Formats: sequence, C-alpha cells, structure tokens
Amino acid sequence: MNTSFNIAIDGYSSCGKSTIAKSIAKKYNFRYIDSGAMYRAITLFFMREEVIKNKNINFDLLNKLIENVKVDFYFDTKTESSKTLLNNKNVEDDIRSISVSEHVSIVARIIKVREKLIAIQKKIGESKNIVMDGRDIGTKVLPNAKIKLFVTADIEVRAQRRFAQLKKTTSNVSFPKILKNLNERDRFDISRKMNPLAKADDAILIDNTMMSLQEQDMFLNNLITKYL
Ligand code: C5P
Repeated sequence: MNTSFNIAIDGYSSCGKSTIAKSIAKKYNFRYIDSGAMYRAITLFFMREEVIKNKNINFDLLNKLIENVKVDFYFDTKTESSKTLLNNKNVEDDIRSISVSEHVSIVARIIKVREKLIAIQKKIGESKNIVMDGRDIGTKVLPNAKIKLFVTADIEVRAQRRFAQLKKTTSNVSFPKILKNLNERDRFDISRKMNPLAKADDAILIDNTMMSLQEQDMFLNNLITKYL
C-alpha cells in the first residue's frame, strides 16, 4: 500500500505510543521510528563514557564525544521488530533499563543532543510512510505529518502498565520507582526550553486510560482509513 504520508505520535511517557505506532506500522506498511530510543541510546553512550555521572553533565567531554555517536535502526525480519543500534551495536535491551530511564530526560534537554537527533529524524521523515513517536514529533520534527496523535493516560495506569511490562524482563523493578520516574520524566519533558512535550494544535487527543487495546485499534483504524 503506498500511502505517501507520515504519522506523528506524541504524548507522555509510557502511555502506549509505541504500541500504537507498531500496530499502525504493521497494518499499513509504515516504517516505525522510535525517537525516544535515539535519546535513550545517546544517554547510554554518555553513561558509558562518563559524560553523565551522578546526573551531572561534563560538557567539555560531551562536546568532544558527541560527533562520535552514531544512532541507527535496523529491522530484524526474524522477530519483525526494529532494533536500535549505537555505533553499529544492538543496544535495544540496554536502553530500556531503569538507569537509562533515570538519565534520559536530563540528556534530552541538552540543545546539542536535540539538534543532532532532530536532524536525523527530519531526514528520515523526508521519505514517506513513516510513523514516528516521541515528544516533539507533531510540533517540530514532522510538522507536516498528515495525521498527528497526542496520547495520554492517567499516571497510575501508565506506571502499572510499565511495571507489568518490565517485571517480565527485570528483577529489581518496583512500582513506586517506576511511578517516580514517570513523574520526573513528565516534568522534565513538559518544562524544558527546547521543544517541550506539547500537543500540536492539529493533533487528535487520545486518552486511553479506560480504553482496551481493541477499542484503541478500532478508533485508529477508523481514523486512518479516512486518509487512505
Ligand atoms: O519514548 P521514551 O519514553 O522511550 O523516551 C525516553 C525519553 O526521551 C523521554 O522521557 C524524553 O525525555 C526523551 N524524548 C524526547 N523527545 C522525543 C522522544 C523522547 O525528549 N522526541
């Protein structure tokens, strides 16, 4: 199916943006780009290189190393899922750790980091049939996206969903820690100077607190078929 348009999905942390984006990508043959994974990958790099230590940034080191960071994706046809590459190495699991989650919003407000990643995201957006999720996609990265969604849900519900998901793969995970992390990331994302999390004026609001996945899918299918 050649749809020749892009879809931007923004919203709060852990409100199901990637579930929506993946489902659209599969059903309508879009390429899914997880912009949050790019911020997570660069955060992992900075943690490993000690550019960020005890939540403090060493800007001299950052300026020296930022050109050396390469963030990419490849599509694993076996698992039918996209994997994030940091300097050509698959870091898909590492970037989902709670320690990366605790540092990513600090890194995501650094202007040099945003400029670098937004340039890559805009370049990807030049090809069509992209569904990209994040915080500033509808407002800044793909302002001409044909469909824009802004997703939200009650924070306790979001934390509960994230907890259930992380519990499957991680042992030292606790609900209060996740709730605290979501609160912190929301606060950082809304209040940063450059490209804060915001709903684009022309975005459709989805509050999925009380929605089942089936209801959400039905809503999205009705919406997208109007554009096909
Ligand atoms: O989407 P995800 O929760 O994995 O994103 C991780 C973090 O990356 C967010 O909490 C936010 O601080 C940052 N981010 C951003 N802009 C985007 C995508 C993610 O600032 N477009």
